[in-house]
Amino acid sequence: MSWEDKVRKVEPYVPGEQPDAKDMIKLNTNECPYPPAPAVKDCLWSMDYDRMRLYPNPDVLPLRKALAQYHGLDTEQVFVGVGSDDVIDMAFLTFFNSDIPVLFPEISYSFYKVWAELYRIPYATKPLDKDFHIVPADYKNANGGIIFPNPNAPTGVLESVDTVEEIIAANPDSVVMIDEAYVDFAGEGASVLPLIDRYENLLVIRTFSKSRAMAGARIGYCMGSRKLISCLEAVKFSVNSYTMNTPAIEMGVVSVKDDAYFKEIIGRIVNTRERMKKELKALGFSMPDGKGNFVFAKHEKIPAKKIYTALRERNIFVRFFDTPLLNDRLRITVGTDEEADRLMAALKEIVEGA
Ligand code: PMP
Repeated sequence: MSWEDKVRKVEPYVPGEQPDAKDMIKLNTNECPYPPAPAVKDCLWSMDYDRMRLYPNPDVLPLRKALAQYHGLDTEQVFVGVGSDDVIDMAFLTFFNSDIPVLFPEISYSFYKVWAELYRIPYATKPLDKDFHIVPADYKNANGGIIFPNPNAPTGVLESVDTVEEIIAANPDSVVMIDEAYVDFAGEGASVLPLIDRYENLLVIRTFSKSRAMAGARIGYCMGSRKLISCLEAVKFSVNSYTMNTPAIEMGVVSVKDDAYFKEIIGRIVNTRERMKKELKALGFSMPDGKGNFVFAKHEKIPAKKIYTALRERNIFVRFFDTPLLNDRLRITVGTDEEADRLMAALKEIVEGA
């Protein structure tokens, strides 16, 4: 057996590209078009560079405390990581450790499959219904755990708290993870966070990358019972004690403290999203009533790949997933109103010229 036969073989997740084009409109990775809270800038600029000599706080207490206070929880109910990808990665490693398959939707965040394969966790995917909704009955048989995003990605479809609770209640013997990367765009009452008091096995995952406009800082977190969080901490301290860097911890804390700005940019994005849906429909697109910071649109006549390429030629980047289940649609991040104007003008030209 050669050394190559002994190597762990993985098919990695492919993130959306980060092009280096000038004057581009970047609507391909669900980033926020607005800057982080103003205090984040002050925090960055006033940072003492000599602090870089020292390791950061291994327990990331300042940020966990700020988040716990914001959500009305105990610090021991919050776990933070290097983006929610890191949090979910740790959570797969910690909670999905059974011979029975873990369940997630067939159309979902495509990284779940990659982590399952990386850690050799058996998994099974479940189809969505014709309107892209989860079918709760599919998640009621014995399983090794459950994860799905709510709102889902890349569809943007939101399941009600009642539907999600039905799934959690049917699974007292598994950890159920709800990936709420986009929940801040889905309106009041969309989150299942209040349920963590009643379900010890529920983990709710969030990120600073979308609604807090801090994808570059790499901050994600999750919330759950003290027991769940202590299991995660044990695994984290078995991998890397210092996951979060000092500037990220400090910037995260100040971001959480500016709730007015947070709500303001979310409001703007939601308004632009609704406007984009209306204007896309007028151009012959259809889409589910997405609740994230993106739309998942299909044109009635023109293939998605053709539109994707034509937009790219105009320096407008959107996401095209070249897989059989998704290749008839484009996932378009909601930008500023000005970016939406330019996107719509380009799409009008493409549609009329087809
Ligand atoms: N979950 C979902 C559903 C996502 O779309 C993303 C963004 N790609 C993530 C988690 C990870 O985001 P981040 O690591 O930037 O927090």
